Amino acid sequence: MKLIFFGTTGAVQTADNTNISFSVIEESASILVDASGSPCQYLLRIGVAVSDFDALILTHAHPDHMHALPVLIQNLLLKKRQKPLRIICNRTTEIKAKQLLELFFILPGMGTFPIEWVCGGNITFDQIPGMRVALFPVNHSIETSGLKISTASASLVFSSDTAPSERVITEASGATALVHEATGSDRNRIILNEDGHSSALQAGETAEKAGVDTLFLCHFDVRQGLLPEELQREAQMSFKGKVIIPELYRVYEI
Ligand SMILES: [Zn+2]
Repeated sequence: MKLIFFGTTGAVQTADNTNISFSVIEESASILVDASGSPCQYLLRIGVAVSDFDALILTHAHPDHMHALPVLIQNLLLKKRQKPLRIICNRTTEIKAKQLLELFFILPGMGTFPIEWVCGGNITFDQIPGMRVALFPVNHSIETSGLKISTASASLVFSSDTAPSERVITEASGATALVHEATGSDRNRIILNEDGHSSALQAGETAEKAGVDTLFLCHFDVRQGLLPEELQREAQMSFKGKVIIPELYRVYEI
């Protein structure tokens, strides 16, 4: 399984980084997780044909995770994609995503390809060759889904935006890697948790309890002025495995 990050910040963008989104690739199958920034450009840069990627997972309907959905679909329409596109998300996100598309005059049945909505709070989907995708609820300020992607050789869990979550620990138990948000330092744990976010130390605690091999940190709130390396050190205090601050566009073999 290949894991490639396109952005790793929280809602606030910087000159050289943008909102969290990433791709998971297994042989010829590929998934895009969250729609922010310039998703078609991201896929093209890593050699994935936008006419061919298999599914988009939307974790929740906050702008930094979903704002680029209309331009992604517009690109697919203009490129006359034929292959159906699965959009996998919870029900609240489905409603907001459809409203967002409609706002930009992208209506059901338009264009050359169907969108197949796969929606629910607790769902599994195994129609992508070589991959199994599961969504599960986490603890954020609106309905938000964590996700697990499993292949024959590896499994990856993404916390999305969440305060510390028992469900993430359960889903990540025995997984190969955990991608967990670390919105800030544990000095700010109370406010982070009240806002439905986790500290880097808490991300490490979750990874340690789950027993994963590798923890990728993401969703940094750059307003706090913390260097990612500081958050990495904090997570490493509570997690004995490997903590990685993802490099954008680097291919991580899971
Ligand atoms: Zn959020």
